[in-house]
Amino acid sequence: EKFVEVKDLRKVYDNGHEAIKNVSFSVKKGDLVCLLGPSGCGKTTILNMLAGLLNPTSGEILFDGKNVVNVEPKNREIGYVFQNYALYPHMTVLQNVMFPLTVGKTKRPKEEAEKIAKKYMALTQITDLADQKPGNLSGGQQQRVAIARALVGEPKILLMDEPLSNLDARLRLKIREEIRALVKEVGITTLFVTHDQEEALSIGDKIILFNNGVIQQDDNGQNFYLEP
Ligand code: ADP
Ligand code: ADP
Repeated sequence: EKFVEVKDLRKVYDNGHEAIKNVSFSVKKGDLVCLLGPSGCGKTTILNMLAGLLNPTSGEILFDGKNVVNVEPKNREIGYVFQNYALYPHMTVLQNVMFPLTVGKTKRPKEEAEKIAKKYMALTQITDLADQKPGNLSGGQQQRVAIARALVGEPKILLMDEPLSNLDARLRLKIREEIRALVKEVGITTLFVTHDQEEALSIGDKIILFNNGVIQQDDNGQNFYLEP
């Protein structure tokens, strides 16, 4: 039942700053869990450790019961949507979305890669943008490309770091509903980082509230205590 499990996780950066202090939590398979907290509380540090981009100082990270702390990022079966999307500017939308299917463990023959990429482009409604370069796209369109690219390798876990923060208020509401519908349709276990309480309450199956590197509340939306 616990698909992602974090046990006694700690991160002390090289400069001595203890960004994460003995944090433990778990995520059920297929749940969309929001990691909520103010800027600087350690949300990105946690995502980066889950992704394998950052080594924990101590503690365990289990995916489906298996400790992944020493597993390379490319073998963790995760999709990561970065805050600034991190699209490849010289590639078209189709090439960006296909990219994970052209390298490493998720590599597929070209025709198959294109077919899978087009499936996720349809799901994220960017089929018509296939030949465009990211520089010509709106923020919301770039966001959809980043999500399609994160899903195309059919990972088991989706990590999203403030994915809506570069969008205007109206688009944020629209795309957050789309993200929730999409992750439920695909059935992927998702960790969604945000500093926006209302956003977390609106889309999370569960919310984990952080402050200063520790968990303050770990609850479902109904019981979540709203700051005045
Ligand atoms: P959040 O994502 O919640 O904004 P971060 O995980 O980015 O928080 O950062 C948590 C804390 O760790 C912050 O105080 C930040 O300044 C600090 N921090 C982040 N990266 C480093 C680093 N490479 N070296 C030292 N401190 C860092
Ligand atoms: P976020 O937007 O997620 O809060 P930040 O703006 O805190 O991220 O950090 C941006 C980058 O700077 C990250 O790569 C982080 O690791 C690094 N960083 C943040 N704080 C520090 C710090 N105090 N010392 C060194 N690097 C840091």
